[in-house]
Amino acid sequence: MAIIPTTNKQVLEKYLDLEQNGKVMAEYLWIDGTGEGIRSKCRTLNSTPKHPSDCPIWNFDGSSTYQAEGSNSDMYLHPCAIFKDPFRRGNNILVLCDVYKYNNKPADTNQRHTCAQVMERAKASQPWFGIEQEYTILDFDGHPFGWPKNGFPGPQGPYYCGVGANRVYGRDIVEAHYKACLYAGVDICGCNAEVMPAQWEFQVGPTEGIAMGDHLWVARYILHRVAEDFGVVVTLDPKPMEGDWNGAGAHTNYSTLEMRNKDGLKVIEEAIEKLSFHHVRHIKAYDPREGKDNERRLTGLHETSSIHDFSAGVANRGASIRIPRQVAEDGYGYLEDRRPSSNCDPYAVTEVIVRTTLLNE
Ligand code: ADP
Ligand code: MN
Ligand code: MN
Ligand code: MN
Repeated sequence: MAIIPTTNKQVLEKYLDLEQNGKVMAEYLWIDGTGEGIRSKCRTLNSTPKHPSDCPIWNFDGSSTYQAEGSNSDMYLHPCAIFKDPFRRGNNILVLCDVYKYNNKPADTNQRHTCAQVMERAKASQPWFGIEQEYTILDFDGHPFGWPKNGFPGPQGPYYCGVGANRVYGRDIVEAHYKACLYAGVDICGCNAEVMPAQWEFQVGPTEGIAMGDHLWVARYILHRVAEDFGVVVTLDPKPMEGDWNGAGAHTNYSTLEMRNKDGLKVIEEAIEKLSFHHVRHIKAYDPREGKDNERRLTGLHETSSIHDFSAGVANRGASIRIPRQVAEDGYGYLEDRRPSSNCDPYAVTEVIVRTTLLNE
């Protein structure tokens, strides 16, 4: 088994308190060439930026992030959103960036670029999203955290929203992540233990337009960093354990101004009809391998719908789209698209939803 290279985090505390002579440490974050991985590097700024455009454009070596184009390995980081840095605290910041190639064209895995354009065109409808990010905590050896090393925990049933040392594994990580997100300014709105032991969920939202993707990516970055501190690993694989174990999704809740108003249910139903015509296109946008990852998860079992069929229903957790019971009763609200994979790119997911339901393209 691999040895976990940890250092004593308490020793770090005395350095974190040091005064910085007015300088700001800015950790630039970006999505790498896998479309799933997050990379980051730090630089000093002389003052606190008010707006992303106050942060300088920067570059990195794309040949080390699966992003290089031939001999042109320099890629550009364009700052998009600023959050407070919960790890360094003080005036230090996280700077979420999108990535451009040497010729200033968006990198292949830059899904934010077109998403931002689509959200701009749809902004009169105020599209809101809430994403439920499910994930699994792994030990350093790749085995689910807290699972017996030579066997399996008892069958699913007691773990979802569970309480007790024999029910949930890794709550410290979940708690630390939640606090760190609130501190950073991420729109985190809830969390719960999931059906499979060592699997958890947090929710972000409701968040409007392009900010949905920004906030979820930063929440993921913070999660990986928190896990790093605890000497464990977080995976967003949609089906980390084969067999009778739930997979992990990123249910995407969605509403527009019209859906939230009186008689919104009619608009929700119209949106669902449009979604039904574009099932394949949506499945392709809902994981980084155009449906290949989700194939392992969307089996029709374990509270999922089959990847091959489109379905919708009130309170139906075995459907592609669920109308929450409360929404059906109120007559307005939002819909839940249960298809996106836990490792989806929220920019791609929110973009295709808006294209299909609002822009009719
Ligand atoms: P579930 O019952 O499916 O587990 P959760 O409580 O985990 O639902 O998540 C609900 C999500 O729906 C949250 O992310 C929340 O922000 C989001 N949400 C609530 N109202 C709206 C709305 N009007 N439009 C879009 N998203 C919404
Ligand atoms: Mn949920
Ligand atoms: Mn869930
Ligand atoms: Mn859900």
